[in-house]
Amino acid sequence: MYDLVVKDGMIITASGPLFADIALENGKIAALGKKLKGRQELNAQGLMVLPGVVDAHVHLDLPVRGDRSSDDFLSGTGAALAGGVTTVVDFTVGSHETALVEDLESRLETARPAVADYSFHCEVIGWRPGKEEQIAQAVERGITSFKFFTAYGDSGRRSDGGTLFRCFSKIAELGAVAVVHAEDDELIRVLTSELSEEQKGSMRALARTRPDTCEGAAIDQVAFYGEATGASVHVVHVSSGLGASRIDLARRRGVDITGETCPQYLFLTDEVYDRPDGHLYSASPALRSNRDRQALWSLLSSGVLDFVATDHCPFTRAQKTWKGSFSDLPYGLPGVELLLPLVYQGVLKGLIPVEHLPLITSQAPADRYGLTGKGRIVPGYDGDLVIFDPSAKWTVRAEDLHMNVDFSPYEGMEIQGKVLTTISRGEVVFGNGALCCDPGRGRFIPRKPRPTAPQSRGT
Ligand SMILES: [Zn+2]
Repeated sequence: MYDLVVKDGMIITASGPLFADIALENGKIAALGKKLKGRQELNAQGLMVLPGVVDAHVHLDLPVRGDRSSDDFLSGTGAALAGGVTTVVDFTVGSHETALVEDLESRLETARPAVADYSFHCEVIGWRPGKEEQIAQAVERGITSFKFFTAYGDSGRRSDGGTLFRCFSKIAELGAVAVVHAEDDELIRVLTSELSEEQKGSMRALARTRPDTCEGAAIDQVAFYGEATGASVHVVHVSSGLGASRIDLARRRGVDITGETCPQYLFLTDEVYDRPDGHLYSASPALRSNRDRQALWSLLSSGVLDFVATDHCPFTRAQKTWKGSFSDLPYGLPGVELLLPLVYQGVLKGLIPVEHLPLITSQAPADRYGLTGKGRIVPGYDGDLVIFDPSAKWTVRAEDLHMNVDFSPYEGMEIQGKVLTTISRGEVVFGNGALCCDPGRGRFIPRKPRPTAPQSRGT
């Protein structure tokens, strides 16, 4: 007799559907089989069962220019569970003054109320000699991914080429991953300086100042550094066909480089900037053309892009009040709760095969970031499951969602497929449309670097 058995579901695995019961014991997956018995049983007949989704890119309670993203760790991870996301990877908040481990300690404190499991990418900001040792110290504390910006020089977040190169060398030595926001800062700066006063007052100009060339050029730079140092590189929020093609090119010559895209780049285009509420769609990278959108689906399907993450960074309508220029807006969109339902629309449209669903929403991010015990429905793994009704139809309305934000970029969109139940470490945490778990139950997941670091080419 197991603690909990999910009965008769269609388990979606990378090698196709599997009809079996899943038994959970002590928070772990204990067995897959027929006629398994549990003290608690959930009937999943006619439903899909997927591994708990891993959203490897969220910004909860993020301080931005004296304000904060509108979801804190309680509301944000609650919304995550409601959308089948059982693990999130957020970011530490780096600064020029503090050490990486200090940033981590303070972020762990902020994250205490979380209800889903979580880890952090350590944000590397404000290089000074000695920072490489801080990377080693953070690895000791269970952080194996480090976030760099090639953009945002104005706010002091950008790392220059020399910094990136030295940090990548250390990351290669330690078997960690360099996570990069890749946009060419100089290009953004010059294109912004050339805008007329009228253009500065239009949302369209946001896309004009951050074209796909920006993304492609910055990806080339970090790919070359990854190649020379042997570092594993991951490019966040790939938004253009050009950007993804540069990842493909680097990987073909042997660079350990991966990329993610986000629902906003798979579903929305820069046409939204012409709408009266276009300012609500402020994000960077900017939304792009329909051609890019189609290319991203195809590159996700072919494996050039490894997974989907949301870059969930919500701001309310009030926080996004239009003040006359796109440069005065906080950038970011809500998304964590809709990751799985949105990606599933791609399955329905034949854009990605159903067996890719667990890969691109769970297994690939868990593997890339060393989230041991996450990402697969296999005995010994954490009991993180989603029971998903593939035929339920519903309409996106911000007011029906759990995210603490008063609009949705997908408002009114007709969706097929709904998360019915979410199980985290063997516990039913969301069901019958409601969360059923205590604040603070989420756990920090410490990670280990890869056992053998790749060989550096000696630069
Ligand atoms: Zn982000």
